[in-house]
Amino acid sequence: MSEYVNVERYRDTLSKAIQCRTVSHLDESQTDWAEFDKLHALFEAAYPLVHKTLKKEVIGKAGLLYTWQGTDPSLKPIALLGHQDVVPVPEETEGDWTYPPFSGAIADGCLWGRGAVDMKDHVVAVLESVETLLEEGYVPTRTVLLLFGYNEELVNNEDAAAVLLANTLKERGIRLESVLDEGGGVPYLRIPGVIRKDLSIVGIAEKGYSDFKLTVESAGGHSASPPAHTAVGILAKAVTRVEKHPFPAKMTPQIDMLLDKLFVSLDFPTRILGKGLDLIRPALRPVLALIPPTASMMHTTTSVTMASGSPQANVLPQVATATINVRILPGQTMDDVKRHLERVIRDRRVKVECVGGSDPAPMSATDTPTFRAIDEITTELFEKSVTVPFMVMGATDARHYRIVCDQLYRYSPFNIPPNIFLLFHSTNERITLDSMEKAVAFFKKYIKTLT
Ligand SMILES: [Zn+2]
Repeated sequence: MSEYVNVERYRDTLSKAIQCRTVSHLDESQTDWAEFDKLHALFEAAYPLVHKTLKKEVIGKAGLLYTWQGTDPSLKPIALLGHQDVVPVPEETEGDWTYPPFSGAIADGCLWGRGAVDMKDHVVAVLESVETLLEEGYVPTRTVLLLFGYNEELVNNEDAAAVLLANTLKERGIRLESVLDEGGGVPYLRIPGVIRKDLSIVGIAEKGYSDFKLTVESAGGHSASPPAHTAVGILAKAVTRVEKHPFPAKMTPQIDMLLDKLFVSLDFPTRILGKGLDLIRPALRPVLALIPPTASMMHTTTSVTMASGSPQANVLPQVATATINVRILPGQTMDDVKRHLERVIRDRRVKVECVGGSDPAPMSATDTPTFRAIDEITTELFEKSVTVPFMVMGATDARHYRIVCDQLYRYSPFNIPPNIFLLFHSTNERITLDSMEKAVAFFKKYIKTLT
């Protein structure tokens, strides 16, 4: 069954959405809220039935919560998430763009601009699909919620719009059947003779994000008569020990599933070579632990990102600090990280404290109606595709919804080449025109299947 999609309207709306400069800033006074108003007005103009039929609420500064009431209130709603904000374009890179970053230019088979893959493409596709379903007279049995935040790009922001939106649901006593957010997708990964299928990667887990601060205090004084080790020296030793003792790599369930699915996608001759997958699986561990993308799926990572010492060259530091950014593997907690750091640093003069972050969200199941729907619709639309559950490396808004939902999935149904897939936050961010129809069709089918 093929779905009608108004590709032209989708493309024009996305182009105009990119022209709204909805850049989020940590210092909210720098955010131009008028650009968000402009985006909201655009949605209203482009999607009249959505705004006539669904209940729209503005939550916080510019969060959008749309409720499409289902006929059976006993069923738990599904939620489709998105963020309206984009990362800034550094001034010095503006000239490197083939088409200006906020032009929404349609050229060379692509639609260009900041937000084209992260993630106005996805947000507009959701609204487009609902508008078309309404035009076709579709009435959902189960309630559908659309929730669009406005500051997802500010990692670890305590005023995250997603937190506000999730709390709004919680206060109303709403439990969700499932959540679908960005992360994942359908990059073409076919390698002739080796991989004969596209991999549709669906995020079922994401790492926790936290920051730890190491602090060393000492007496200070003049640098002409220093002790054997200054506070910075003691701190440096601690940093070296942290880097020398990484968290051990583990064969996680995500890696196991990835291997199984990859195996199915292999071309016939290659598959014979890989016949003894189960036999070689243990031997793969050290290999996978060396490749950065798989390695980060196998252990909690630590990166020392900031450091400070004395404010002046000839003054001994009274305080020296270092900040370690930690991405935590599901199954471990911030407490585990603190214990690990204290154990490897083994120096009481170094104070270790967690200064922010959250534990990883629990892994979502793959035997749920939502995961099955994603898998079936993807396989139908992208006939040469294998659905692979994976762990998202960055942080998404989805994690904030664990307070109202157990099943969180991260998937953007755009079939695009890997070089474009990787352009989020970069110069020449763009989306291919030929990926649009199927993406909107995906959301139509997704809503119809689950509601
Ligand atoms: Zn994003």
